Amino acid sequence: MLPVVALVGRPNVGKSTLFNRLTKTRDALVADFPGLTRDRRYGQASYNENNFIVVDTGGIDGTEEGIEIEMAEQSLLAIDEADVVLFLVDARAGLTVADEAIADHLRKKDKPTFLVANKVDGIDGDSFSAEFYSLALGEVHQIAAAHGRGVAALLDRALVPVVEQLTEQFENEMSELEQAEKLVESMHAGDEEGSVEHVKTLPEVESDGDESEDAEAVPFEDVPIKFALIGRPNVGKSTLTNRMLGEERVVVYDMPGTTRDSVYIPMSRNDQDYIIIDTAGVRRRGRIKQAIEKFSVVKTLQAIEDANVVLLILDAREGISDQDLSLLGFALNAGRSIVIAVNKWDGLDQIVKDDVKRELDRRLGFIDFARVHFISALHGTGVGHLYESIVEAYQSATKRISTSMVTRIMKMAQEDHQPPMIRGRRIKLKYAHAGGYNPPRIVIHGNQVDDLPDSYKRYLMNYYRKALDVMGTPIKIEFREGD
Ligand code: GDP
Ligand code: GDP
Repeated sequence: MLPVVALVGRPNVGKSTLFNRLTKTRDALVADFPGLTRDRRYGQASYNENNFIVVDTGGIDGTEEGIEIEMAEQSLLAIDEADVVLFLVDARAGLTVADEAIADHLRKKDKPTFLVANKVDGIDGDSFSAEFYSLALGEVHQIAAAHGRGVAALLDRALVPVVEQLTEQFENEMSELEQAEKLVESMHAGDEEGSVEHVKTLPEVESDGDESEDAEAVPFEDVPIKFALIGRPNVGKSTLTNRMLGEERVVVYDMPGTTRDSVYIPMSRNDQDYIIIDTAGVRRRGRIKQAIEKFSVVKTLQAIEDANVVLLILDAREGISDQDLSLLGFALNAGRSIVIAVNKWDGLDQIVKDDVKRELDRRLGFIDFARVHFISALHGTGVGHLYESIVEAYQSATKRISTSMVTRIMKMAQEDHQPPMIRGRRIKLKYAHAGGYNPPRIVIHGNQVDDLPDSYKRYLMNYYRKALDVMGTPIKIEFREGD
């Protein structure tokens, strides 16, 4: 669980500039989901081993009218899902009514807030910042986001101590996920004595010289498979969660939930335990549903982190949007196994179905390892088969792969199709070893491997995928020069 830092302030004070500096624009997820805000962006920041999520909340200027009020409210609600707020003001423009309106709002929140005066480059920062003390939000941190000035000091002196403290707090709190796991464990406490051994952690990888010849799934009898249902608003997450829970033979153990987290629902089906990570919050009790709560990017990112398998739901009637691809990108970067469900497949005519399939081929070509299911959550069609792909994806991700096997497959691939010559010498792959699970990692050693073209890397990847019979999970291949 990563602390969430929200950047708040009027338009043009420099929030995006600071966002880019903090996240180095890596992995920015642009969330222009309908009904949310103009352009809220989410990114991951890392500073001296401190990791946190940064949210650029989009502009609020406190003078909104009509529809703008609603949008500003959405931005303000986004503050609620943050742990820390950086409130930016423009030192050059001076104090405005809008700054005061935002400050009033922030003072009412019981949340660590730092006041940051931006654009102090080329001006006398101290005198230009003085008037912001009247906002009664404590010290005014002076920065020039565009040039990086003062940013390290802001991080070192203000942000990082709070982030460290929050990180420690999150680590100490037993998360709802852990509670759910404990619950699953206790469900089996009464099972016949001496039955299955509880394996809670993945076994270490044997790095070399191992004897086993076959790839096989490690038996994880009592480890529940954690899968997250993610997708844009209205794709059918709630309907699908209910449908999956309503399936015959499913035993559900209800869990209470809190606001920002997803709801974790332990269940079992056909002797396999699962924990559904329900981002739609279907099972949350005694909760007043708010539009913003129904879809939260932070919640979705957290769910991806917590899951073994991500079940991405798409709406057949809406096609694939950039947000869908962003979510998929996040899941891929996190190394998660992926299953795709194209929902609302009921009542579509053949022409539309063909169109949707063509679009999937075109836009999801990069993730050809994921199983795609065409389902109707409303009618239940195809829902039962999702479990098969979830189990398959999980087993693929945790498959035990031996060094002798990955080397043998590498040699077969090289014999079938040699790597190209570079500067008169042929690239040579020498041996490979298994580098870990979840997702499966393979390390290949050889000569001039730095020059290996992407097309050959893709060829190897597909070769491994077929030879190891691995579906639903990315495979990571690393190349190392020499022995
Ligand atoms: P946002 O609307 O709050 O996200 O603001 P932006 O990050 O888009 O910045 C608004 C404008 O202020 C842009 O033209 C930036 O180049 C400029 N700006 C941002 N940071 C600084 C700074 O530190 N110094 C100066 N002089 N200009 C800056
Ligand atoms: P969520 O926001 O992702 O949780 O989406 P909901 O589960 O609330 O569904 C949004 C709307 O889509 C509701 O009106 C559902 O009845 C409808 N819906 C969900 N699944 C299906 C489906 O398989 N077929 C059709 N036709 N409508 C569906």
